[in-house]
Amino acid sequence: MQKHQTIMKPTSAKDDPNLSDYQNTRESFDWSDVEKELDWLPNGGLNLAYEAIDRHVAKGNGEKLAMIWEGKNGEKETYSYDQMRIETNKFANSLLNLGVKKGERVFTFMERIPEIYFAVFGTLKMGGVIGPLFSAFGPDPVKDRLENSGASVLVTQPELLKKIESIFPSLPNLKHIIVVNKNGRSSEPVPPNNLDYYKLMSDASEEFGPIATTRDDYSIMHYTSGTTGKPKGAVHRHNAVIQHYLTGKWCLDLHENDIYWCTADPGWVTGTSYGMSAPWTNGVTQVIYEGGFNARKWYQILQDYKVSVWYTAPTAIRMLMKSGKELPQSFDLSNLRFSASVGEPLNPEAVEWGVDAIGMPFHDNWWQTETGAIMIANYASAEIKPGSMGKPLPGIFPGIIDAEGNEKSDGEEGNLAVKTPWPSMFQDYWEQRERYDSRFVAGWYLTGDEAYRDSDGYYWFIGRSDDVINTAGHLVGPFEVESALIEHPAVAEAGVIGKPDPIAMEVVKAFVSLKEGYEPSTELQRELMGFARQKLAAAVAPREIEIIDSLPKTRSGKIMRRLLKARELGLPEGDTSTLEED
Ligand code: ATP
Ligand code: MG
Repeated sequence: MQKHQTIMKPTSAKDDPNLSDYQNTRESFDWSDVEKELDWLPNGGLNLAYEAIDRHVAKGNGEKLAMIWEGKNGEKETYSYDQMRIETNKFANSLLNLGVKKGERVFTFMERIPEIYFAVFGTLKMGGVIGPLFSAFGPDPVKDRLENSGASVLVTQPELLKKIESIFPSLPNLKHIIVVNKNGRSSEPVPPNNLDYYKLMSDASEEFGPIATTRDDYSIMHYTSGTTGKPKGAVHRHNAVIQHYLTGKWCLDLHENDIYWCTADPGWVTGTSYGMSAPWTNGVTQVIYEGGFNARKWYQILQDYKVSVWYTAPTAIRMLMKSGKELPQSFDLSNLRFSASVGEPLNPEAVEWGVDAIGMPFHDNWWQTETGAIMIANYASAEIKPGSMGKPLPGIFPGIIDAEGNEKSDGEEGNLAVKTPWPSMFQDYWEQRERYDSRFVAGWYLTGDEAYRDSDGYYWFIGRSDDVINTAGHLVGPFEVESALIEHPAVAEAGVIGKPDPIAMEVVKAFVSLKEGYEPSTELQRELMGFARQKLAAAVAPREIEIIDSLPKTRSGKIMRRLLKARELGLPEGDTSTLEED
C-alpha cells in the first residue's frame, strides 16, 4: 500500500560527512564503532553526564558555550561546558553530603531553569537515578510518581512546592526536599524543614570523582505520556547514551558549530534524550527557552539565537500553521538548516508547510519513552516521503509482525515491533515487571503501534493499536483520516475515533477544531464530510464530524483519542493526570 506518492529531495548537501556516514554504513553497521567515538571512564565504566559534559572539557573545549538560557521573565544566562562541569560536580557532591547513595531516585519538579540541568547531570554523576517531572502537574500526578518510584530526594521551586504541599505526609521514602529560589523570584524564605539549593551548592566541592557507574547502571526514569492509559515508569541505563549520541549526529544532523533548540520539556523523554544528552554528547551549543508556546516568540528565538537545528513536535507545528505562513517570513531564519519533529504522526500537510513557511520540510522521526532514543527517521541526506516516519536507524531492526511474532511482507499492516536489544532499550517498568515482560514476544519488543513498511523501506504509521478502528471489516488508522481532514483550509486539528455500531461494528467519527476566522456551522460540517469523502475511500471517510473548540491533549501535546471516545460514549475517563488544561 502506498498512500502518498510525493517524494521530496534531500535538503542538505551530499558532501556533508555525517550524512554520507549514514548512507554508507547501513549495511556494515556495528555499534562497537559508535562506542569508540565516546570517551569511557578510566575504569571502563560509562556515565551519561561524563559523556555529555566532562569529556569536552578534558579535550580542551571547556570554554565553549553549552547552554544559552532565556528565562520566562526575559532573564539571560549562559554556561560553558566547564561551568556545567563545575555546577554538576557541586550537585553530585551535595547529594553525597546528604548521604544519598547510588541507585536512589532523585526527582525534579521544576521549570526549565538551568538548575534542572545541573540536578539531572549531578545526580547521574553520583550514580543516582533521575526522574524529571513536568512542572505543570498538579499534586496527584506528582504524588503517584514519587510514590511509585520511592524517590528519596525532590528538587523543586518555591511556587511549585506550594502547589504540592499536601502530598508529603503520604511519602515516607522522601527524605530531602531541595528548593531552588531562582533569581529570588519568590519573596518567601525556603521553609525551615527544606533545604536551600544555593546553600547546599556553596558548601559543596567543585571537584567530583571518581565517577563509578557502568553501562548497565540505571540512569533515568521517565513516566510515559499517559496517552493510552496510566503512565508507566520506564527505566533506562547509562548505555542509552550511545544511541543518544549517534541519533543526535545522524537523525538531527548535529555538527560541532550548530546552535540547537529542542522545544520539549525535560518532564518528557524528548526533553532529556534530545534536550540534554544528544546535543551535549555531540558538543553543540544549546538554546533553552523557559517560556511556553507563542508563535511570534518562537520565531524570534530561532532568529535571535541563530538556531541552525530545531527539534519540535507536531502539536507545535500545527499551532504555527494556525498562525499562518506570513509570520515566519518577517523573521530572518537564514541560519536554520534542519528541522525535525517527534511525538505524534506528522501530517504530510505539515511537512510541506515547512517548505513554504521556514524554507525546509520538517523531518519526522519515531520513537517512544521505552525505546529511549530515535529508532526510525527521515534523514537530512535521504528523500522524504511526507507522512512517513522514515527509515530505521542503522543497527535498529524493526519489523511488522502478527500476534505470534511472524514478520509480515512489505505493504501489509501489522504491529510495529523492534528486534531486541538496542543500546537505549528500557530495562523495566518500575515495580511493574509483569507489564514489562508482556511487551516482548519471540525476540521482538512490541511497540503498541500499528504500521506498515513500503517497498522502499519507509515506515508508515497507522495508529496506536488501541486507536485503530474496525469498520465493516476494514481496519482504519485515525492518522490517515485526520491527515485528510486537516488539508481543508478551515481545519486546525482533527481527532478520529471508532464509535460502536450494531451493523458495522464501529463507524468512523471525527472531531475537528477550526482555524481562526472560521465559525462552526452545519454547512461547514457538510462541506467537511464531502471533502473527506473526496479524499478517502468510502469505507474510511468519517460517518460523523463534530466541530469542537479544542481537542483534549496530553501536556506533551498528544491528542488523547481515548478521552474523545470516553466522552462520546459517556464512559469513565480513566487516568487524566497528564491531560492539558485549557
Ligand atoms: P502511554 O504509553 O502512556 O499511552 P505515549 O505512548 O504517548 O503514552 P510516549 O512514549 O511519550 O508515550 O509516546 C510514544 C508514542 O507516541 C509512540 O508509541 C507513538 O504512538 C507516538 N509517536 C511518537 N512519534 C511518532 C511519530 N513520529 N509518528 C507517529 N507516532 C508517533
Ligand atoms: Mg506508549
